[in-house]
Amino acid sequence: MESQGSVTEEELELTTYVGLDKRLVIIRAGDEVDSVLVCAERFNVLVDTLATPALCARALDILSDRLRDKPLVVINSHMDWDHFWGNSALDDNTQIIAHDEAIRRLDDPGSERELAEKRSRESRFEDVKIVRPTITFKGQGLSLHGGDLTLELLHTPGHTPDHVAVWIPEIRTCLAVDTVEHPIPEVWSRSPDDLRELCASIKQIRDLYPRHVVLAHGQTSDPQVVDRNLDYFTELRDAVAAVEYATVIQEGLDEKRGFELEDFVEIDPEMPLETKAFYRQCHRSNLNAVVAAHLSGVEFL
Ligand SMILES: [Zn+2]
Repeated sequence: MESQGSVTEEELELTTYVGLDKRLVIIRAGDEVDSVLVCAERFNVLVDTLATPALCARALDILSDRLRDKPLVVINSHMDWDHFWGNSALDDNTQIIAHDEAIRRLDDPGSERELAEKRSRESRFEDVKIVRPTITFKGQGLSLHGGDLTLELLHTPGHTPDHVAVWIPEIRTCLAVDTVEHPIPEVWSRSPDDLRELCASIKQIRDLYPRHVVLAHGQTSDPQVVDRNLDYFTELRDAVAAVEYATVIQEGLDEKRGFELEDFVEIDPEMPLETKAFYRQCHRSNLNAVVAAHLSGVEFL
């Protein structure tokens, strides 16, 4: 998701969830994003590098005790800025793994354009350099065998084409990153194909029967969020199917009664306005995709 305002290095903290395996550490950059360190027997794995090199450097610093005696492998879950712009803080010899679709995104001129735009608005992005992954995989998955823990990288497109979630079977824990989000995830585009992929990815995570589903946004590991995300899309589909064509094709449908974000999910009254505006935008994207699927007769659930 987008930034809720500048997060500084001082705000970075290590945290965990009740019952979460102690070999996992949640690295929390304010309300912006969480990344995760997995300490396996044979190596450590950092899943995402936060939004700036300064934040990533600070994270490596406060984790230095855990990182000392084992090699570090990095996963970039997807090439959204809040998840990988910290890459340049890594040692040059650190291997960075991502899905092959990530390369396509980085090759797109939009990638540098976004950096230029954000740099012009926030000074904390001044020293960001786009550092590309060193290892990519095609297809459905890749396994990292850490000894006591296996990290199964699952291609879970839909939020973005390159998105990867991590399943750790020994502890029935899924690092869902942005495939599952509280209160709602966001689809990549209004194309029904992306919507179908996102719903299939969420179902893929549900069908693992995870004990913990660790999100990058929403600060929870409650597996019920997965079902709530699916219920949200089901209700959107049904709401669109229940009204006339003239209503469906209206501009600004997401602001009409019965189609607003709050009509589908409960929004914490304490949620900051900026965050609420962000999720309204996500809801608009999702509704546009649901309408497009409805009009073209595509089933996505
Ligand atoms: Zn994100």
